[in-house]
Amino acid sequence: MGFVSFLTMTKRFTGIIAILLLLSLTIASASQEFCDARMDYSVVGCGGSDSTSQRILIKGGTVVNAHHQQVADVFIDNGIVTDVKPNIKVSDEVTIVDATGKFVMPGGIDPHTHLEFEFMGTETIDDFFSGQAAALAGGTTMHIDFVIPVNGSLSSGFKAYVEKAKKSCMDYGFHMAITKWDDTVAREMEIMVKEKGINSFKFFLAYKGALMINDELLLEGLKKCKSVGALAMVHAENGDAVFEGQKRMIELGITGPEGHALSRPPLLEAEATARAIRLAGFVNTPLYVVHVMSVEAMEEIAKARQSGLSFKTIK
Ligand SMILES: [Zn+2]
Repeated sequence: MGFVSFLTMTKRFTGIIAILLLLSLTIASASQEFCDARMDYSVVGCGGSDSTSQRILIKGGTVVNAHHQQVADVFIDNGIVTDVKPNIKVSDEVTIVDATGKFVMPGGIDPHTHLEFEFMGTETIDDFFSGQAAALAGGTTMHIDFVIPVNGSLSSGFKAYVEKAKKSCMDYGFHMAITKWDDTVAREMEIMVKEKGINSFKFFLAYKGALMINDELLLEGLKKCKSVGALAMVHAENGDAVFEGQKRMIELGITGPEGHALSRPPLLEAEATARAIRLAGFVNTPLYVVHVMSVEAMEEIAKARQSGLSFKTIK
């Protein structure tokens, strides 16, 4: 819950972060990569990062963290916050930023992005540079994207995403989708957790004929997540029923964007959410229901939480 409210706060103070962030960008270690990768974008502050600009003091702002807030100075040495307290004394060569009357906050973390995502004949427009540049401008300094396996292969998918992420200019991590099941996938899930730093796997109950998996695969995946200590995530909509809804829309001649919502009413999300919750409960492993979109689905989660089950939901 702390995380959720943190994200909410982050949004509220986005403007303030942006001002400070632009200044701190000139000293963060990621900044040089940001500059190197600038391509056709014009980036303010690139270039002259000599040794003196590596140390910065953000002075007199209200420092806001998850647990409390206080008026304090923030000292950053080579991109790392090394001290937070009132009235820090520094030598002349340290760059000082006056933050009086402003909030100073940690960068936001976006736990759900799809940059350069090839999906059902389309591809998301932002890549790992343009998406991240936009995120930085708004105060988000870290994100977690979803590796999509290539023909079900986790290692091929991982390789492809490492390639895509080469143009990155900020911190990022990976979740990974599981789109088929066999011994290789099971073995590769372990490798991803132990060697590649991926510890959350997403199962799509929607998108029939593309990313959707059935209950048998979901159960295998939940068991594996439990055994390797990873977090299972679900996109919870009943893909078979949505497919029916889509056929119905086409029969009715409704082919505009409104057909998208009409083809997948909230009860299909509630059904899949309730099913995923029960199957995770059956396997006895935690579940993270991503992008909850309807009151009906939210009520299923609230009911499960009240019964003492362990769940996470964000936005
Ligand atoms: Zn997603």
